[in-house]
Amino acid sequence: MENTVDFTIGKVKRIALIAHDKKKQALISWCEHNKEILQQHFLCGTGTTARMITDQTGLPVKGYNSGPLGGDQQIGAKIVEGGIDLVVFFSDPLEAQPHDTDVKALIRIAQVYDIPIALNKSSADFMITSKFMTREYVHSVINFRQQIAERAQSL
Ligand code: PGA
Repeated sequence: MENTVDFTIGKVKRIALIAHDKKKQALISWCEHNKEILQQHFLCGTGTTARMITDQTGLPVKGYNSGPLGGDQQIGAKIVEGGIDLVVFFSDPLEAQPHDTDVKALIRIAQVYDIPIALNKSSADFMITSKFMTREYVHSVINFRQQIAERAQSL
């Protein structure tokens, strides 16, 4: 049986914003369109995406490194630490990415920690209009302490 622990996603969300190059303008337009909602939350993102959103919409977005230089991994690490609540990732399914492994790792770690991750605009639209955007959300996440204790015992 899987051991889980309940975590609460607060009313104010910590949202990570990422877009591959050919999707950057689409994400910027989406941010502009949803500016009133987004400005009530804490925003961060991979370096270039974060800078372009701030420059073109005025929204404050804390920038990590550029994606190909480890930005996706930084965001993944933040998820592991419990520092990110939602991910909006306009990824490009038609273009090979030099950091494809990092992209896969980010998606995987969001799944492991049950973090909502929108990979295209329609998912992001559903996410941003969810009733949970204005309230707390309790979810079950794998109990990593117990997992270590059991593995250390059994291996
Ligand atoms: P960038 O990274 O925002 O620095 O362009 C995004 C990515 O390609 O993962």
